[in-house]
Amino acid sequence: MLSRELRERFDVLVVGGGPAGMAAAVRAAECGVRVGIVDDNLSLGGQIWRGASHDDQSKDAARWSEGMQAARVTTLCGIRIFDQPEPGVLLAEGLNDVFELSYKHLVLATGARERFLPFPGWTLPNVMGAGGLQAMVKCGLPVRGKRVVVAGSGPLLLAVAAFLRKHGAAIPMICEQASWSSLARFGASLFTYPGKLKQGLQLRRELSGILFAANSWPLAVHGGQTLESVTVSRSGKSEIIPCDYLACGFHLVPNIELPLLLGCEVQAGCVRVDDFQETTVSKVFCAGEPTGIGGVELSLIEGQIAGLAATGRTTEAKRLFGEREKARRFAQLLERTFRLRGEIRGLPSSATIVCRCEDIQYSRLRPHKSWREAKLHSRCGMGPCQGRVCGPAVQFLLGWDSDSVRPPVFPARVENLAALTGPQHGQTTGGLA
Ligand SMILES: Cc1cc2nc3c(=O)[nH]c(=O)nc-3n(C[C@H](O)[C@H](O)[C@H](O)COP(=O)(O)OP(=O)(O)OC[C@H]3O[C@@H](n4cnc5c(N)ncnc54)[C@H](O)[C@@H]3O)c2cc1C
Repeated sequence: MLSRELRERFDVLVVGGGPAGMAAAVRAAECGVRVGIVDDNLSLGGQIWRGASHDDQSKDAARWSEGMQAARVTTLCGIRIFDQPEPGVLLAEGLNDVFELSYKHLVLATGARERFLPFPGWTLPNVMGAGGLQAMVKCGLPVRGKRVVVAGSGPLLLAVAAFLRKHGAAIPMICEQASWSSLARFGASLFTYPGKLKQGLQLRRELSGILFAANSWPLAVHGGQTLESVTVSRSGKSEIIPCDYLACGFHLVPNIELPLLLGCEVQAGCVRVDDFQETTVSKVFCAGEPTGIGGVELSLIEGQIAGLAATGRTTEAKRLFGEREKARRFAQLLERTFRLRGEIRGLPSSATIVCRCEDIQYSRLRPHKSWREAKLHSRCGMGPCQGRVCGPAVQFLLGWDSDSVRPPVFPARVENLAALTGPQHGQTTGGLA
């Protein structure tokens, strides 16, 4: 069946329905302009609020959802932006439809994803991203009675471990690669962030009795058809831990593919914005994790500033600058604390698969000098994820930056690409990447 083509026009269009996008949409819509918000999931809320239940986070989620309804924001869920055929127009694909969305002002709030690093056996079934496993449990995967080792780096590990425990999983160990000294400095700094300190203490209570090991990371996983155990390096000594799942992620990386496609400048992996969250492309704003990994509070503040600025209310936006500065200092603290240590670069063996879409082993990448060269010779990064998984891994392991982003930024159906390349659309969408 051919997709239907649908067209919508907005004064402000927001891409990404997480906290940053929701805050931007509410603030923009409050002044009476036509606002649309697009998210590729079936409901809004982003990584943290999607499927939220009866905790503090869901109170915030409910407040912003009510704000969206009160302000009459048009919500387009289950559709994904994949191209910009011309400035001011984005193309999105849903299950049966293809959308042409025009805007006067755009807010990009595309969030972040987990950073996965390859190590022997990491492609075995039941080795999952920490946030990925959490998302699957939110969608109904039962983990009651399952043993889940949580490993990698960053505060997400603690949130995921607490969540899994609440859902009945047993957590034999949480392995954090950061050192005890970094974590101690981080803990001491929390006294200047009372809200974070409260969250930290709450997590400590929820995780009481679970072994937390700093200076620790997975070395290899073992099993036949599925995972049976993981060998971890714990303060320099190897230890084998039997488990049913390994939930593993090394902090987060910003989703900057769409901003890059639109021509927004990126610095050190994050979208560059001015005080009002405007990118280097006029009338295109960016908020939340793509401007730097900072957590939900920073996303909410940046989203509000972007929504206010996109509707010309700069005086109101300025009132949030102080709060944003404080949240940004916390983001820098996170960055320093969970910076990846050099030893992690030694995790993959020659035979370890790095690009899991195209089955490319580490030994096939190392002889090359750049991402482009490796891509041309091996197809690394050319599978369905378009380098979203192996790109950040290779960046860390070999120091290669991916050099370009081409449309479609997400896989799109050929019929939709073809339907939208006719003369009435002015130009081609660039073909299959
Ligand atoms: C997997 C994962 C799990 C997490 N779990 C927790 C947790 O339990 N607790 C916690 O405190 N923090 C968690 N975080 C961190 C948390 O996501 C952030 O602190 C905060 O929610 C970021 O909000 P945001 O609005 O910037 O981005 P997000 O919440 O990531 O929202 C961005 C949204 O944009 C959508 N999107 C991206 N590109 C497109 C496109 N082209 N078309 C359509 N939609 C698009 C994404 O699917 C997503 O829904 C998690 C992060 C990740 C990656």
